[in-house]
Amino acid sequence: MQHIIDRFISYVIIDTESDANSETTPSTKKQWDLAHKLVADLKNIGMQDVSIDDKSYIMATLPSNVQHEVPTIGFISHFDTSPDFCGANIKPQIVPNYDGKDILLNADKNIVLSPSYFKDLLLYKGQTLITTDGTTLLGADDKAGLTEIVTAMEFLINNPEIKHGKIRVGFTPDEEIGRGAHHFDVDKFGADWAYTMDGSQVGELEYENFNAAGAKIIFKGKSVHPGYAKGKMINSMLIANDFINELPQGETPQETKGYEGFFHVHHLTGSIEETVLELIIRDHNKKKFEKRKELIEKITKKINKKFAKQFGEDIVTAEIKDQYYNMKEKVLPVKHIVDIAEQAMKEIGIKPLIKPIRGGTDGSQLSYKGLPCPNIFAGGHNFHGKYEYVPAESMQKAVEVIVKIAELTATEGTARK
Ligand SMILES: [Zn+2]
Repeated sequence: MQHIIDRFISYVIIDTESDANSETTPSTKKQWDLAHKLVADLKNIGMQDVSIDDKSYIMATLPSNVQHEVPTIGFISHFDTSPDFCGANIKPQIVPNYDGKDILLNADKNIVLSPSYFKDLLLYKGQTLITTDGTTLLGADDKAGLTEIVTAMEFLINNPEIKHGKIRVGFTPDEEIGRGAHHFDVDKFGADWAYTMDGSQVGELEYENFNAAGAKIIFKGKSVHPGYAKGKMINSMLIANDFINELPQGETPQETKGYEGFFHVHHLTGSIEETVLELIIRDHNKKKFEKRKELIEKITKKINKKFAKQFGEDIVTAEIKDQYYNMKEKVLPVKHIVDIAEQAMKEIGIKPLIKPIRGGTDGSQLSYKGLPCPNIFAGGHNFHGKYEYVPAESMQKAVEVIVKIAELTATEGTARK
């Protein structure tokens, strides 16, 4: 266990915060620091064809050790951390044999990680927790994933009696700003399918995510002196308000769960002459997703019609852009790749928790680029903030799942291409 903790800590102490405002890849230069270390680690444990490209995407191979033909599988994680919270000067704290009580993260600032608020903590009584010092995030998202993949490959190399096919490993920058899959060369990776190790609690296995679009809606207006405005002024902010009121009641992120979709107004700026409204549209169901986009068009038309005479041209314009799609469509035709992961968990005594993601993963984009890619737990909790923590035992379990998936894929009869 100490080995896995040491490796994890060697990754989290390197600051790799990504930056959505940057146009480069990786988005921040500092991500190269960990990228170079990962390349060295992969070489050190004996991986082959270790490569890093000019955008810092890392790939490596563990060759097959069986004679028969086995599908090539991949394991993927990302090495950047979220810009939502400080990712520099991370000082991980180790809580051995967790007693189920409050954990004082920072005495000076009185920051406490408490099971009375974060009930999940109680799942890990008696285990070794790795936490922050209350001033940064931890970066278990997704350095736990990196740790698990490297450790599992090392285990397979050191235990050649475990039979497996060709395994490809991929580490990406900039996942947290939605670009992890953008420059991922699926052909070069050359796997039949892959798994992102980027989920949370032990047992999580995900192959359904939202269909996603973003809309930018611009309202025009006419500014006139308020004293002489009767019948002349058009206040774009009030039109935007009408637009929001036309959206269905109760379909917001805070009022929905499970498979329920939503509209989420996340940005609004305005003056009398112009108001810009930005919202996102999410739905697991493709048909309902399309209907939601149509509704935006419909409301736009309705308002334009109402102001056609007075304004003379379209008073509202809506620009809708698809962002990503539900990977289920790409994964269901090859459902055995989920079944193998589920079976692997069961064989090592983990209860699989299969549920739809209310968001997206790099795996959804990769699935649409031709690499079906469900998501598996990496073990951490409370991502993107100071309460982030990961039990070392959960990382160990993830290592076992990776090894078992490799083993099952190479077992004739289990895997199909
Ligand atoms: Zn992640």
